[in-house]
Amino acid sequence: MAFSTQKRFIAGVTCPKCGLLDKVQAFSEQGVDYRECVSCGFLDQMRVLSAPRELETRVSASPDNGASQISTVKLIDP
Ligand SMILES: [Zn+2]
Repeated sequence: MAFSTQKRFIAGVTCPKCGLLDKVQAFSEQGVDYRECVSCGFLDQMRVLSAPRELETRVSASPDNGASQISTVKLIDP
């Protein structure tokens, strides 16, 4: 699984380096997922082992929901 190459914030995640909330962005580069803090420059490769639970949260029945496909990624920091 990989994030989009476009960076986007991970809601509710605290930076492990500077401790600020909602400053961490996730993005994918060459198939590897990274997280980066926009405040202090912290950069870490993420090791996500579990698949995202998209089936429970995503409604895919509507054919014209292109805008609503942008959803917030929520990860729990171990
Ligand atoms: Zn930071």
